[in-house]
Amino acid sequence: MHELAVFADSVANCTKCRLANGRTQVVFGSGHPNADLMFVGEAPGFHEDKQGVPFVGQAGKLLEKLLAGIGLRREDVYIANVLMCRPPGNRDPLPDEVEACEGFLWKKIELIRPKVVASLGNHATKLLSGRQIGITRVHGQEQETMLGGNRVLLYPLYHPAAALYTPRMLEVLQTDFRRLPELLGRALEPEPAPEPALRPPAETAVQLGLF
Ligand code: URA
Repeated sequence: MHELAVFADSVANCTKCRLANGRTQVVFGSGHPNADLMFVGEAPGFHEDKQGVPFVGQAGKLLEKLLAGIGLRREDVYIANVLMCRPPGNRDPLPDEVEACEGFLWKKIELIRPKVVASLGNHATKLLSGRQIGITRVHGQEQETMLGGNRVLLYPLYHPAAALYTPRMLEVLQTDFRRLPELLGRALEPEPAPEPALRPPAETAVQLGLF
């Protein structure tokens, strides 16, 4: 069994925060266990809680459409959320819930080892960037950072659920999304080889040896 699946099993009965009381099930995440591209949303909603899979509602349909636009299916990427359990009435995650759940997200990133992590919306972006700067200011701006012990390109995007109801936001999300192949290409390039150590040319070395 893949290490990620073992980890998923180990957290299926999590009771670290109050959300354990109202959930149908833990929504761990889904997709390719070694995806180069990972998405992190906010929290499961009604449908995700029922089905145990992230982004299966309307926002998920839009995410799948955006993925198709760059030649990817959801099975090619990994999709997770800041929280693994549905907050009542889909309210915003509370700070102590994020704190209780974030270690699980770091562990997922450690095991999946994605090259690009796209944070969807404010909650994921603030958590993953470690900065309190809102998505309106940072969307579309990639930054190199360490997450789950891996060097990744963090790429903040508008949340698809927000874009569903705001045409202008949808346009921006589509534009930002189209840069993902370039970012993946950049992130997948091998590290430049280190400069060879400076050595005196062979002739000089021989001459020096004469004296
Ligand atoms: N569905 C999810 O799984 N996460 C979100 O952030 C929104 C909808």
